Amino acid sequence: MTKTTRAACVIGWPVEHSRSPLIHNYWLKQYGIAGEYRREAVPPAEFAAFIGSLAAHGYVGGNVTLPHKEAALALSHPDERARAVGAANTLWLDAGVLRATNTDVEGFLDNLDACAPHWDRSTGKAVVLGAGGAARAVIYGLIGRGVEPIVLVNRTPGRAEVLRQKFGAGVQIVRWEALNATLADATLLVNTTTLGMQRQPELPVDLARLPDDAIVADLVYVPVHTPLIAEAKDRALRTADGLGMLLHQAVRGFALWFGTTPAVTPDLRKLVEADLGPSAAKHEPVT
Ligand code: NAP
Repeated sequence: MTKTTRAACVIGWPVEHSRSPLIHNYWLKQYGIAGEYRREAVPPAEFAAFIGSLAAHGYVGGNVTLPHKEAALALSHPDERARAVGAANTLWLDAGVLRATNTDVEGFLDNLDACAPHWDRSTGKAVVLGAGGAARAVIYGLIGRGVEPIVLVNRTPGRAEVLRQKFGAGVQIVRWEALNATLADATLLVNTTTLGMQRQPELPVDLARLPDDAIVADLVYVPVHTPLIAEAKDRALRTADGLGMLLHQAVRGFALWFGTTPAVTPDLRKLVEADLGPSAAKHEPVT
């Protein structure tokens, strides 16, 4: 009897840096599924043709990474959350129809649920730093959990204003220069900027201003132990890091393509952390 092998891929340009193959191939092995997950380096000019013939390429779906996330949204049948975020990162064929979603929303929320159980039972003001694509996913997720107010702090005020108009009155804007002053009554602080990433400056945040029961989440995962997360741990605050979000956001795609909902385990985390390498373990700021 021939075994059917289902295949999925990550489509990007470039795509070598993607950790998705490591994560999905780990799960395929773990669950004994005869599937494959590959990298597909597809330049922007060829993206539409590629995803228009996913099945002919042998795929049941895949992840989409830079620079194709907006194109994926435009060229598929996206769900409400992908439309709200303005980008799609997960595609799948559903009876021949190419559907899309954005799993950063659940990646963020599921990681928070795992790291700080019941955080949303008593949450008040959330402070979100940044107003890019990742901030949209975070804000959409927080609104869905009834968090209000959401204070948005971004270096470029115009980008924050776009998000306020998109997500409504529950989102308030505070100037970047006033960031620390808004922390005193925050229950959740989320960094969605690129600050704290390898070779980027650190965030100018004074965590001493946060209440003792606040939660700190960082979307940055290179390094895994960002200065923000390290400082929050030093203050004994609850934390949710970017690597956890990265792993949780991969769950839905795997379930859609291979029919099994995989678990995010300490072993998987160790594997990806090791692959990110020692240089990714610690923050080295720009000199
Ligand atoms: P993006 O759209 O390029 O947005 C970048 C944000 O960082 C903007 O708000 C930008 O502010 C801010 N920023 C950049 N340099 C700054 C500086 N020197 N000072 C102050 N603010 C600065 O990027 P994105 O797609 O939202 O991604 C943001 C981060 O989230 C990245 O580190 C990405 O790797 C991470 N991420 C992680 C996951 C995960 O699964 N863990 C998922 C998605 C994203 P301006 O508007 O002023 O430029």
